[in-house]
Amino acid sequence: MIAQGLPASPGAACGQIVFHADDAQEWHKDGHKVVLVRIETSPEDLAGMSAAEGILTARGGMTSHAAVVARGMGKCCVSGVGSLNVSYKDKTVEIDGIVYKEGDYISLNGTTGQVYAGEVPTKAAELSGDFKELMDLCDKYTKLQVRTNADTPHDAQVARNFGAKGIGLTRTEHMFFEDKKIIAMREMILADNAAGREKALAKLLPYQKADFKGILEAMDGLPVNIRQLDPPLHEFVPHDLAGQETMAKEMGVSVEDIKRRVDSLAENNPMLGHRGCRLGITFPEITAMQTRAILGAACELKKEGKNPMPEIMVPLIGTLYELKQQKEVILEAAKEVFAEYGIEVEFEIGTMIEIPRAALTADRIATEAQYFSFGTNDLTQMTFGYSRDDIASFLPVYLDKKILKVDPFQVLDQKGVGKLIKYAVEKGREVRPELRCGICGEHGGEPSSVKFCAKIGMNYASCSPFRVPIARLAAAQGALECE
Ligand code: PEP
Ligand code: MG
Repeated sequence: MIAQGLPASPGAACGQIVFHADDAQEWHKDGHKVVLVRIETSPEDLAGMSAAEGILTARGGMTSHAAVVARGMGKCCVSGVGSLNVSYKDKTVEIDGIVYKEGDYISLNGTTGQVYAGEVPTKAAELSGDFKELMDLCDKYTKLQVRTNADTPHDAQVARNFGAKGIGLTRTEHMFFEDKKIIAMREMILADNAAGREKALAKLLPYQKADFKGILEAMDGLPVNIRQLDPPLHEFVPHDLAGQETMAKEMGVSVEDIKRRVDSLAENNPMLGHRGCRLGITFPEITAMQTRAILGAACELKKEGKNPMPEIMVPLIGTLYELKQQKEVILEAAKEVFAEYGIEVEFEIGTMIEIPRAALTADRIATEAQYFSFGTNDLTQMTFGYSRDDIASFLPVYLDKKILKVDPFQVLDQKGVGKLIKYAVEKGREVRPELRCGICGEHGGEPSSVKFCAKIGMNYASCSPFRVPIARLAAAQGALECE
């Protein structure tokens, strides 16, 4: 064992070290098993992460990009390994004085956060008959359903096979990174008026519709909760000169123009900046396009005799009026889509509760929301005031000094964040007794957090596909503990 990090995504992986997402794809194509080693990952690394056996990062907590994406993919990940000194230039990583080069073998245990030099043998997981029997027993007692967080038809299918009863969160941003989509996405970001944005969004619409159709089809007959665009736009644009030159060529504008636009997107605190519903409010055409894509896909499936059950979710609201405004845009786009297809599909509009103010004003928010989905990653971040991306720098000291018992991004803080959630569920149901409440933050797959959700009467917990069985077990235990 050569290092210890956070157990960011369970499972085991071993392979040859690569340092760049492009290299991961190339090596994978050539038949190599690779482990992607990064200081941290960003959405641009998605294809490389997918090609790798596992992901190892020097920075980042349990809800960092690497951790969340790896869990979604069912891929092993160890994050926040402070002892890694990564040099992208030399393609080396130094750990406690020993230098490992590109191509050297390394192994990860994502369940314990341990990192090993060399190739440790692994064995595929098996689902035995006893396992199925246990899961059936869980269903007999549980009241809290388990859904999944999934962004692809494959992930949706994997989760369905594990017994997920629908999708609790589809993060649409992960769909924008394939070749043609990212070009249209960047064109939309670069546009300086609504007409320019609409032109680019029209190019994105068919791609989005096809993506949503695949997911709705994989979950046919079960609810699929799709979230409107959430991350800050700077995550979609290239920050290096080579990338900016390519982008300039693709768009037919100067590199200076691209650089200026990229610079203008920089924020001091992007997690608290221009993201979530703030994007849809400043650029309502994005909300409209995504609604058209979701409901267009649903109409097509209905015409094919399927039973799509879409839910459209507005992220990161803090005030009732944010939700009201976005709802108007969604309802208007829905009217247009239904007129175009000549049929209607039933759908619901709900919101994420991930800003403390939204939780504190839940009775007002519930007047406009058909359901609440608690985004406990952001709710934890904003309740504690700990950046979810930077916690790894001080968490070990906090744990060591017993200021915190556990990482609150891993295990739900029931005394503080949980209190807000319980209050919001109760207040919301005072005005809308049938209000459906679920959790879709990373805590939705952590047993003690799932039990808490079961005990306060939530309707479902949603977690990444490979965590569905453990969530089902915890949900049943929670129900039994309440009896
Ligand atoms: C959350 O904040 O809990 C959530 C599910 O959204 P994201 O992690 O994408 O911000
Ligand atoms: Mg969030």
